[in-house]
Amino acid sequence: MKARLQEMLDTARTAIAVAASEIQLQDLRVSLLGKKGTLTAIMKGMGQLTAEERPLIGALANEVKSELETLIGMRRQELSDEEIASRLEREKIDVTLPGRGTIRGSKHPITLVTEEITEIFTSLGFGVEEGPEVEKDFYNFEALNIPKDHPARDMQDTFYISDDVVLRTHTSPVQIRTMLRQPPPVRVIAPGTVYRRDSDITHSPMFHQVEGFLVDRNITFGDLKGILTTFITQFFGEKVGVRFRPSFFPFTEPSAEVDIACVICGGKGCRVCKNSGWLEILGSGMIDPEVFKSVDYDASAYSGFAFGMGLERVAMLKYGVNDLRLFFENDLRFLRQF
Ligand SMILES: [Zn+2]
Repeated sequence: MKARLQEMLDTARTAIAVAASEIQLQDLRVSLLGKKGTLTAIMKGMGQLTAEERPLIGALANEVKSELETLIGMRRQELSDEEIASRLEREKIDVTLPGRGTIRGSKHPITLVTEEITEIFTSLGFGVEEGPEVEKDFYNFEALNIPKDHPARDMQDTFYISDDVVLRTHTSPVQIRTMLRQPPPVRVIAPGTVYRRDSDITHSPMFHQVEGFLVDRNITFGDLKGILTTFITQFFGEKVGVRFRPSFFPFTEPSAEVDIACVICGGKGCRVCKNSGWLEILGSGMIDPEVFKSVDYDASAYSGFAFGMGLERVAMLKYGVNDLRLFFENDLRFLRQF
């Protein structure tokens, strides 16, 4: 029996040393020391021993058992250390690897010019208003002194939702809504999306405008000129040439279109400015008393001016973009330049 115990210990020592996992080790422990294990099987022979041999073999069996427990415990610790070491190796962060750069988006050029224009007018004391893009005929046309037979109402230009409802063709209805909501003085700009039935290299069925107007006592054409000149020089630079040219709009009287010296050729004349040296950038004028009537403002006590410009147009001139459609194609190669 002594020899069998010794043999078992030797065999077990090797088996424990090569056990490759916690599970294997546990199985080994059961097969050696469990109720149906090798040790139990050997000890079944105790009955055949003499009274002198019995305690000696019993003590030896206990030694073998305790040695096996110790070996298994040590191997378990080894396996656990190996596992931790290999996990540390696997999950190691290599700080020498170059970082993966974050791809940052940029603002759309139309957003950029809207923000810049808003900032300039805010610094001049203007507030910002918004209005609905699906608009009633009254706000889009009627109240702005655009009668039923005016060419601007032609089906060619306007998207009609119904006889009385349109997609707004300009941001001017925000003027009417604002003036109906509050008494003078008002000093407001209204940037936004507008719609017209028009699509080619210089026209898009959806585009953007910013409207602005100021109403107070004793407002003259001089105020209009001062505010717009201040805006233009801040937006296009101090040196840009500016001129006011008489024009006509149904909702202003007198009216003026505002040109800047061609930003491409500096006024010498080129293809972009059609050799005139000037580029039209906005329409403006003194608000027509007819408009004041429809919002219940007292035209004898108050006067004001209004202006409007296309944001795509000023963005094209500011950034040197030659095709309007680039703004709406969302080609990243284009957008990333801003
Ligand atoms: Zn030019």
